[in-house]
Amino acid sequence: MRKRVIYTPKGRAREYSSLALNIINGCDMGCDYCYVPRITKKKKEFFHTNSVHRKDLIKKLERDLQELKEEGNTSLIMLSFTSDVYQLDESFNSITRDVLKLFRKYNQPFHILTKGGLKAIRDFDMYSDKDWFATSLTLFDEKRSKKLEPNAATPLERLEALETAHKRGIKTWVSFEPTIDEEETFKLYELSKDFVNFYKVGKISGYPSKVNWDKFANSIAERMEMDKKPFFIKYDLRKHLKKDVSEYKYHKEVEWQKKTYLPSWGLVVLR
Ligand code: SF4
Repeated sequence: MRKRVIYTPKGRAREYSSLALNIINGCDMGCDYCYVPRITKKKKEFFHTNSVHRKDLIKKLERDLQELKEEGNTSLIMLSFTSDVYQLDESFNSITRDVLKLFRKYNQPFHILTKGGLKAIRDFDMYSDKDWFATSLTLFDEKRSKKLEPNAATPLERLEALETAHKRGIKTWVSFEPTIDEEETFKLYELSKDFVNFYKVGKISGYPSKVNWDKFANSIAERMEMDKKPFFIKYDLRKHLKKDVSEYKYHKEVEWQKKTYLPSWGLVVLR
């Protein structure tokens, strides 16, 4: 059977999406905590300096989208897990728009998770009311962010991209993962909550951390509940909650989990 470029993520990645597409191999954002070199068994230095286009991506993607259409599969597709669709090297970025044009042609919903900040705005005209724009918010302190995520957009630029998306009527979500410093996360939450529809909160994996997970898990869940802000606590962090997540009214399991990961949980339509 032909291998699709749209694939079903495994393990913890499934908490983000039931289907995903990686446009580029390698990623020049250079995040020190990046998990991809570890899972792809590549040297960090190599992974961050050798981004390449995937061969015949557009041709293969069109076949996949055609097949999904024939199957009636309208799942959200995440772009992307093992790279960022907005690279520092601009020569990679026109492919992102070509990919989104195909999503529009087949009316297949997508969500983009990026640290590219303002670069993402150029493609906002490609979003329909079913698509989502998302950003990872890690640190508010620009110097610390620059040190850990040297080529990513600054925290303020990421916030601005979210706010712009929201003003244009695009649904937005934020990944609070990796969590590096809980105070910084709370600061970013306060700064973003007026223009973010949904938060996903997790830990940090395979990287040193001083975060008190018990304290963080409970306080972030309580804060979002108090603000009536829809949120999702990832499974590794959920273990630190004193209450069962079902006791939080605003803790939401979303459509892609209902369909492929937690079939017994109810469908939630986020507004
Ligand atoms: S943006 Fe994501 S894939 Fe790229 S280096 Fe950072 S963590 Fe890795």
